[in-house]
Amino acid sequence: MTTTVKVNKDRIWQRVMELADITEADKPYTRRAFTDMYLQGREHLKSYFSEAGLETRLSESANIIGTRQGQDSNLPAIALGSHIDTVIEGGRFDGIAGVILALEVAQVIHEQDIPLKHPLKIIDFLSEEPSDYGLSCIGSRAHGGRFSEAYLQMQNPEGETLGEAMTRMGADVSGVLDIQPANYKAFLELHIEQAKRLERTQTSIGIVTGFAGIWRYSITLEGQTDHAGTTPMDDRQDALLAATKLISLIQETAANDKSDLVATVGQLELRPNAVNAVPGWVRFTIEIRCLDATKHALVMNAFGKEVESLLDAKELKSATKEMISDVSPAPCDASLQTVLANACDANGLSHMPLTSGAGHDAYHMLHVAPSAMIFIPSKDGRSHTPEEYSSPESLSEGAQVLLDAVLELDSIPVK
Ligand SMILES: [Zn+2]
Repeated sequence: MTTTVKVNKDRIWQRVMELADITEADKPYTRRAFTDMYLQGREHLKSYFSEAGLETRLSESANIIGTRQGQDSNLPAIALGSHIDTVIEGGRFDGIAGVILALEVAQVIHEQDIPLKHPLKIIDFLSEEPSDYGLSCIGSRAHGGRFSEAYLQMQNPEGETLGEAMTRMGADVSGVLDIQPANYKAFLELHIEQAKRLERTQTSIGIVTGFAGIWRYSITLEGQTDHAGTTPMDDRQDALLAATKLISLIQETAANDKSDLVATVGQLELRPNAVNAVPGWVRFTIEIRCLDATKHALVMNAFGKEVESLLDAKELKSATKEMISDVSPAPCDASLQTVLANACDANGLSHMPLTSGAGHDAYHMLHVAPSAMIFIPSKDGRSHTPEEYSSPESLSEGAQVLLDAVLELDSIPVK
């Protein structure tokens, strides 16, 4: 498919900058969900929804949803979206790019009066970033029919419940638990990469193959606490020494795999934690992320073997491993990845497959719609900081890929 319809680069940039101005003045760029500043941002956003000719409503879970009717109202909708809330002192592009570029797609289709067979929906999801209520991706979880009463009862430090906060944002909380997942032909989200892989390889677009699984463990090692001055080096059971061997092994195993596999020891406690004592007890966490679950097994098998040899060599008395959490990997829809790759090719844009190591709204949409994502480059891989930057060129290239993908999807017969 060759496109003659082009997105408007200047309008995209101007809108991203306009939203950036709607920030807590003393700590740019801050527009936390559930604040007046957020409502102000959403109010401004609604003007873009109407300029794009969308019928706009606030859903039960306070997502802003704009619809362009299709020629055949029986066909499932093609949906695009992301979020405009930020972390404290976050950036101008995380989430925002996805919403503004989705709106650009709708606006170009509106202005060019392109007849779509399928309805087109643009969604600004409520509160994607970790909220003060202890939950992230609130709007997309609810939209995907994955909400619970327990979520509504979560509280912020001031004691307000999430249910009350959502009501303040215009949600109809009584209906949130009964949301029936909508019937979608496809959901697409564009996001900034938040890493350096695209920039380093000078690639225009990342086509997300899926969301990495996340496995977390708590490891406890017991050796023996002894006097650091009187116990000879060959007569110790130093639990911290054993831990360092295991930590190195975990990280080397992940690094040597040269894939999307990452493994991190982020927490460590030791006892007695004294300058003159051999540490007899250590607890640490392991977090592993990757799309292919067998890579997780690769790390944990290497870990298990090393633990056995430490026990055999009497370097430790005991070792226990407890799984703290286990989030399965979730691949993106394969045929949508092809549609997105074709759209890149049609525009002469280089592309590469990437795993998403972080969660996004699309992760929750995967459960109700064939879903896929594209990433655009982030300067120096920075995000969640005021320095976050994606160029006007990258933004407009991303919008063009979304536009062409929507037009292509509209012409593909429904499965
Ligand atoms: Zn985001």
